Amino acid sequence: MTRVYHDEDADLGVLKGATIGVIGYGNQGRAQALNLRDSGLDVIVGVRADETREQAGKDGFEACSIREAVQRCRVVMMLIPDEVMPAVFAAEILPGLDRGKALCFASGYNIAFGCLAPPAGTDVIMVAPRMIGAGVRQRFLEGKGFPSFISVHQDATGRGRQIALAVAKGIGSTRGGAMEMSFAQEAELDLFTEQAFGPAFGQVLLAAIQTLIDAGYPAEAVMVELILSGEFAYSLEKIAELGFFKQMDLHSHTSQYGSMSRSLNYMNPQTAAAMKQALEAIRSGAFAREWEAEKEAGLPVFNQMRELRELHPIAAWDRQTREAFRLGTGE
Ligand code: NDP
Repeated sequence: MTRVYHDEDADLGVLKGATIGVIGYGNQGRAQALNLRDSGLDVIVGVRADETREQAGKDGFEACSIREAVQRCRVVMMLIPDEVMPAVFAAEILPGLDRGKALCFASGYNIAFGCLAPPAGTDVIMVAPRMIGAGVRQRFLEGKGFPSFISVHQDATGRGRQIALAVAKGIGSTRGGAMEMSFAQEAELDLFTEQAFGPAFGQVLLAAIQTLIDAGYPAEAVMVELILSGEFAYSLEKIAELGFFKQMDLHSHTSQYGSMSRSLNYMNPQTAAAMKQALEAIRSGAFAREWEAEKEAGLPVFNQMRELRELHPIAAWDRQTREAFRLGTGE
């Protein structure tokens, strides 16, 4: 079984006296900076001179330019979006990256697919929370942990693993558990969830909506039943909390009988085959190359798909249901 590290395996003392430079103050940046500071560590924030820097200042952090934060810190927390990271790295981070510093990523993508190449004298580590930023902060405040994947890609100082574990402890993850994975595995799992599980699930949901609307049920009733009631979201939450089968006991016997007796009807080898294909394109780097080319071309396909999705009937059903039940449009 893969090793999972807990609080007792990590020593915050490794980071005592070292400044941690949190680069980016968004979803992960803000949550991780606050948690690291509350763990007694010395944190500065490197961010552009805008309202985000003001927010970091209001939260009591010393906030400066990315370049200055990198120059002043020992551990550089890479918490800006993956797609801007290579350019920001080349312009603002690399110049201040003296030997012996640690670059800590929250995602394996850019290292796994060779989008940026840190110098040889730098520790390259990863602490990737499996939790959105708001959850990282909330669970910390509740005294609870959350899972993360940690990795040491380059261990220039020989202390990479200790630093990764200390960061994982500082953000509150090792209260739950930090599992060691390679950068590539982390990136592949993440992309697979986005490219296989997410869209396959989306298609199942669309098929259910379409089936019921074709059968004459009002769109508003269908949307409430399947999505807006939050019932399915609640089941997913309970799957995470109790387990896949155990959560079934929360449902009525009618529901359990109906669900178990019909589930085999939806076994679909085509879905598994499409998922395998998606995984192969991710692992071979074909997806990363395609996405690089798309960005270089100015995102023509991406923008077209975003326009097209607004034309799908579900966009209108969604809007009209939200209006009818005064739920707000989410805009
Ligand atoms: P965000 O989109 O929330 O990052 C926003 C921050 O990045 C802001 O401070 C913003 O500054 C800064 N930023 C954006 N563009 C630039 C740029 N061109 N130059 C300089 N700064 C810029 O990122 P996330 O927190 O979502 O993601 C950070 C990392 O964490 C990524 O590697 C991601 O994969 C990983 N991760 C994210 C999770 C999540 O919950 N979102 C979960 C687990 C990992 P400004 O306000 O000045 O624009």
